[in-house]
Amino acid sequence: AFAIKRGLSSSASATPRMLNGHTLAPTANHSGNAGMKILAVLYKGGEAAKQEPRLLGTVENQLGIRSWLESQGHEYIVTDDKEGPNSVFQQHIKDAEVLITTPFHPGYLTRELAKNLKVCVTAGVGSDHIDLDAAVERDIQVLEVTGSNVTSVAEHVMMNILLLVRNFVPAHEMIERGEWRVSDIARNAFDLEGKVIGTLGAGRIGRLVLERLRPFNPKELLYYDYNPLPADAVAKLGARRVEDLKDFVSQCDIITVNAPLHEGTKGLINADLLKHFKKGAYLVNTARGAICNTEDVAAALKSGQLNGYAGDVWNVQPAPKNHPWRYMKNPLGGGNGMTPHYSGTTLDAQARYAAGTKQILENYFQGKAQEPANIIVGVGKYESKSYGQR
Ligand code: NAD
Repeated sequence: AFAIKRGLSSSASATPRMLNGHTLAPTANHSGNAGMKILAVLYKGGEAAKQEPRLLGTVENQLGIRSWLESQGHEYIVTDDKEGPNSVFQQHIKDAEVLITTPFHPGYLTRELAKNLKVCVTAGVGSDHIDLDAAVERDIQVLEVTGSNVTSVAEHVMMNILLLVRNFVPAHEMIERGEWRVSDIARNAFDLEGKVIGTLGAGRIGRLVLERLRPFNPKELLYYDYNPLPADAVAKLGARRVEDLKDFVSQCDIITVNAPLHEGTKGLINADLLKHFKKGAYLVNTARGAICNTEDVAAALKSGQLNGYAGDVWNVQPAPKNHPWRYMKNPLGGGNGMTPHYSGTTLDAQARYAAGTKQILENYFQGKAQEPANIIVGVGKYESKSYGQR
């Protein structure tokens, strides 16, 4: 309610543009408009965001850019209300020039809604919540703060792999219950050393994960990606590329998913592919929930085909209370390392993606070129090679 109120009151005072009682001079910007409407869809931070100002990616703290935007005569609407035609998002998207969204609470930009926009900025990494083909057709640029949270995610992947392989979650839950039965935990606890570990997607995050895995002395590191790793990375990491997906999954004890969600990865990990996994393999997915089929993963964990599944991304966010991934377990009652979507929104990451969002906006206002790595869709074409082979 806080965000909605602020958003709408800011909207109501749009013309002439005033700040602290002074009329603002028109500001030149890329669109040629004196001031533009900038709409941001962020997650609600509640009490935590009031107490912790470094929670920049929240509706309360607004990426820390409100006064900067308003001082230049722009209108800034911030909301977490994003579902349905009467939502603040869908009402304001009609005449917004810039949309800022965060993957942690995605405002889905469909073809129908993408009418008057010029720029979409993802405060974070991963722009699958935007209809990218529609953006190409309508000359809407899609920009993200590439690299802003890749270390944060790679660290989370390492934690997820370790907590599954070492059977950590049931061990901790046992302690909280006041019990102590070592064998009940140890019967399904292993070392990471000596395992075959593969990443599906070997871009920025996949590569950082491989780098972090190397000191654990795996038997082998594998990757599956249509974009091969550069020769220096292969030499440094000793990772072997496997070109056939079924062949790749059948060799891995542990698989980590680090590819974007697009038409080529949606539902890629389904019952048919899971049959080709090694019996009792572990799967970690911090990329996007919809890359895995929800029911098929839950069934594979229940049957023991997977010994563990962990990650922070869900096919629907926020995940409903009855989502099977909240409660699924392996036959021994463990193997679930799911959390809410937060791996890429540590306080360190928030500082980086808030600063990166501001820089992207500044470039846009001043008509300056954007950092090439940040351009997912440029005017009229895909610039990123990560959203499928085109
Ligand atoms: P990146 O663009 O650097 O790398 C992605 C890699 O995936 C590329 O090398 C690409 O070729 C590969 N790829 C694409 N389609 C593939 C397919 N069908 N099979 C195999 N490989 C494929 O991106 P990144 O920075 O490493 O991020 C990867 C993804 O991680 C993001 O798109 C986002 O969805 C997700 N992510 C999640 C969080 C989080 O908080 N959980 C944070 C950041 C990013």
